Amino acid sequence: MGMFGYLCKECGKPLDTRIGNLAECRMQLLSKGEVIEEQSGEYDAYGRCDGIEWETDWGQCIDMQFSDDDSEGFAVVHKQCDKGKNYSTMSKNDPSQAGLFRWYQKKDGTIKIR
Ligand SMILES: [Zn+2]
Repeated sequence: MGMFGYLCKECGKPLDTRIGNLAECRMQLLSKGEVIEEQSGEYDAYGRCDGIEWETDWGQCIDMQFSDDDSEGFAVVHKQCDKGKNYSTMSKNDPSQAGLFRWYQKKDGTIKIR
């Protein structure tokens, strides 16, 4: 399985596993816009914090993240950006794959790969 990641709901930057303070995060798993599970810790580049398995079946998590429905999947926020909110829409997928590729943030907030 390749590395992958998400963009922070608050600042729009990746969970970057090369940059310590951008890997610390809180993740919420959403179903129909409701939080059904939560993890916090260091993002491991494989969809989890600190390598802890989700209780929800992983295949189901992937189906939720890659469905067309924004109210299903993972909503993720950096620890430093975290305002303790519950989210109702998922995070965007991270084109840098959790820092595997060098990235920068454009003025309009979008993430580009160098
Ligand atoms: Zn952030």
